[in-house]
Amino acid sequence: MEKTVQLYEGKAKKVYATADPALVIVSYKDDATAFDGTKKGTIMGKGAVNNRMSNFLMKKLMDAGVPTHFVEELNDRETVVKKVEIVPLEVIVRNASAGHFSSRYGVEEGILFDEPVLEFSYKNDDLHDPLLNTSHALALKLATREEIDTIKAMALKVNEELKAFFAGCGVRLIDFKLEFGRLGDGTIVLADEISPDTCRFWDAKTNEKLDKDRFRRDLGNVEEAYQEMMRRVFGE
Ligand code: ADP
Ligand code: UDP
Repeated sequence: MEKTVQLYEGKAKKVYATADPALVIVSYKDDATAFDGTKKGTIMGKGAVNNRMSNFLMKKLMDAGVPTHFVEELNDRETVVKKVEIVPLEVIVRNASAGHFSSRYGVEEGILFDEPVLEFSYKNDDLHDPLLNTSHALALKLATREEIDTIKAMALKVNEELKAFFAGCGVRLIDFKLEFGRLGDGTIVLADEISPDTCRFWDAKTNEKLDKDRFRRDLGNVEEAYQEMMRRVFGE
């Protein structure tokens, strides 16, 4: 499977067409951005970590019955995925307080929730991805009620699977962001990526941050944290 024309260049990935209109190739970059794209940098080796980790986790989720866009890993940075129409919702699942949850509601980070918190943002860079609820999403016709019910159920299932998997790696899954898409026949599948860019990972013993917060907050050892997550996941 070979790339033809570039369809899109985002902040962290490029998307290419292939000879098959139902498939695209995503290519993961080392570029990192934060705070709505205002902070920019490079995290050496990040593209390969995110590509390989995301594919590994998507395969695990497929084994657990969650449909995803994953088709085939081509090399360290490139993967064939099913082309989807992305549902313009960032689906965030939180197991403990952190980031915007803490700043918005004025609570410290790391408070464990009795049950997961599920929230949506409108995936719209011009509007800075505003928080919205199901009625807002329906009013804006971002998805149907049936699609939203499917997305919520899948997001919670993904959380249960990932929480258990990362616990086995000595990692607390604090929160993460998912994106879903529609296949040609309307089926909803998990798309985009699951990686240290899109999840908060804290070491289970020390609460050391092993994710993109090291870049966002200038905590140092950014590359090392991504490599450490690779070791935890792949045992390398
Ligand atoms: P951003 O657009 O936020 O800068 P990226 O750099 O990660 O993000 O770009 C990848 C783009 O590809 C995103 O817009 C994402 O929604 C989209 N995408 C992810 N998976 C698929 C897929 N299977 N088919 C089509 N587009 C996808
Ligand atoms: N997240 C993401 N992309 C975004 C916004 C959030 O991947 O555009 C992830 C982020 O890495 C974290 C979770 O979603 O794991 C919750 O993020 P939060 O709302 O706290 O915002 P942040 O503080 O990351 O901007």
